[in-house]
This record gives sequence, structure tokens and C-alpha cells, in this order.
Amino acid sequence: MELPRKILIGDGVISQVGSLVRSLGNVSKVAVITGKKVKERAGQACDASLYKSSLNVSWHVTSDASMATVDKLQCVIGNDPPDFVIGLGGGRSVDLAKMTAHQLGRPFLSLPTSASHDGISSPFVSIRGIDKPYSVKANTPIGVVADTWLLSQAPPRLMASGCGDLVAKITAVKDWELARDDRGEYFGSYAANLSYMSAKIILDESEKLRKKDQMSIRTVVEALISAGVAACIAGSSRPCSGAEHLFSHALEYIAGQDCGLHGERVGLGTIIMAKLHGLEWERIAEALKAMGAPTKAKQINLNESQVAKALSIAQSLRPDRYTILSKIRLDSKQALELAKSVRVV
Ligand SMILES: [Zn+2]
Repeated sequence: MELPRKILIGDGVISQVGSLVRSLGNVSKVAVITGKKVKERAGQACDASLYKSSLNVSWHVTSDASMATVDKLQCVIGNDPPDFVIGLGGGRSVDLAKMTAHQLGRPFLSLPTSASHDGISSPFVSIRGIDKPYSVKANTPIGVVADTWLLSQAPPRLMASGCGDLVAKITAVKDWELARDDRGEYFGSYAANLSYMSAKIILDESEKLRKKDQMSIRTVVEALISAGVAACIAGSSRPCSGAEHLFSHALEYIAGQDCGLHGERVGLGTIIMAKLHGLEWERIAEALKAMGAPTKAKQINLNESQVAKALSIAQSLRPDRYTILSKIRLDSKQALELAKSVRVV
């Protein structure tokens, strides 16, 4: 198991990123990978903390989470390799930095500016331009700094998306159980329970969490980190990603980039897969609604036929990952009926 070594969560902890990096090894040179807007919002606080710890810092501003960008970064940063890589930003910057650090063989710290997905603490990255249409494994972040003040400044939609990525663990764990029962696949009870717990807190506390204050954000970010750690423990994305994630990847494949955020798509997928698993899909939809996450495809610019097609091709994107969609094969007509029955379309 490769687990994060140090995790800081709290109001203003970005000011401690320098000392945290220092405590994680013999580090003098740090590369920070971020986006333009995030650098304007949080760059100064991060830079001041790294400077205070006498670290030599190079900044790399990117906009596109693709392998082409990783290759470019590897060229630029690789000329004068840093001892340590930090990913400052939302999903895109964290994924880019994680992949670049992996390619350069350097330790990596994630400094998320939104509580929008579980990649904050997991070894998995979702990046365009690789030969697989789903997440691939890089290295686990050695450290995580989740500043709840910084996270509270992000648009509310991002945290709602994080809740979508969390409720997904309900159907992901069910799919994993199914793979154990039908295929004799390895199933880790501890990792499954840990992941499931991070989803359950969203179902149980959605009314309280909808306030999106710092305490709510702390709960959501802790749940996201726990889910990522569950994937570290399992050594695979199994506890965090099942048919609902395949559905999301299929939507991206069909509709391109203009179809909502990762957690928003995955949340819709969870409602649908919950019905297939015979679970209380209404409760999942209610929790998502309470958090301000979409429960209807049209809320993220998707139409009926795109949803039906995504449901019917999702499993073919990753045939080796046994899920409820391997067991229940859907043609377009059945897929449409299913999506209608849970009011996603
Ligand atoms: Zn996810």
C-alpha cells in the first residue's frame, strides 16, 4: 500500500505548505503546477509559505489536462528537475501535477482549491490523450493540504460535484461485491467499508452539508480524502469507481467536454445504477438535489439519446471491469426506459 504520509486540513493551512514540504524529505527545489485563475486566487499565499521555508520555487501555469501538456511540462521541468512537485488547483491541475511527478519520479503534494473529486488523495488520474478512456494509476500524493477557507471560496457547484463523486461509492462498492460473487475477484472489506462510509455521510447529512460553510466543506473534503485512501488500500480504483464512472466516461466520449463536471455526471450515473442494483435510488437523488448537484441530464446539457447511448456503450469502454452493466446488458431502448424510470431524462 502506498498511502499519503501527511494530511493537513483546516482554516488557513496553506500557510503551512512550506514547512510541510520541508518535513517530507530533503527538499530544496519545488515545482508548482497550477491554472491561471487559481494562481491569481491562491498563488501568493502558497508562494509566501514556500519562500518562508527557503524553498526554491518554479511556477508552471497550464490550462489543459492532456498528455500533451504532461509531455510539455516534463520537457520544461525535466531540464532542471525539482525535488518535489505540488499540484495547486482543481481536478485538472492536481491530475496534471500528479502525472508529471509520476513521469519525473518525484514526490507529489496535492493542494486542492475545490472539494470536487477524490483524486485529491488517490493515485488515479483522469487525463486526455492516453490510450484508455478511464482513470489510470500514477503515484499516491505523499502529502495533502486542504485549506477549508480556500475551498470555501470555490464556486458552490464544485463541492456539489464532489458530493456526486462521493455518493458514487455506493454503487461502486456494490459492483465490486458483484465482481467478487460472480467472478471470484479479490474484494477488500476494509477498503470497501471505508469508501462506503464516505458516501453514507453525504446521504445522512445532506441537509446540514448544504450550507456549504467551512465545517461542511471539512466533512466533504475528509470524505473525499478517505475515499482516495480506500483506493490506495485496495491498490485499485475498485472501491471508488464502478458502472457509474463508466457511464460518465461514456458521456465524455459521446458529448465531448461540454457535459458537466466529473462528479455531476457520476452522480447521475449513481442514480441509474442504484436502480439496477435494486437500491433506494430516490434517496440518492434527494441527497444530490439537497446538495445542489444535478439529478437530470438536461442540467448538464445532455439529451435523452446521449444518455441512452452512453448507458448502452459504457461497459464496452472497460470490458475487464465487471459491473452491473456486465450482468444486465442494455440496448438503447432499454437504456432510455431505465433513465426515464429514475427521472434522469
Ligand atoms: Zn470519481
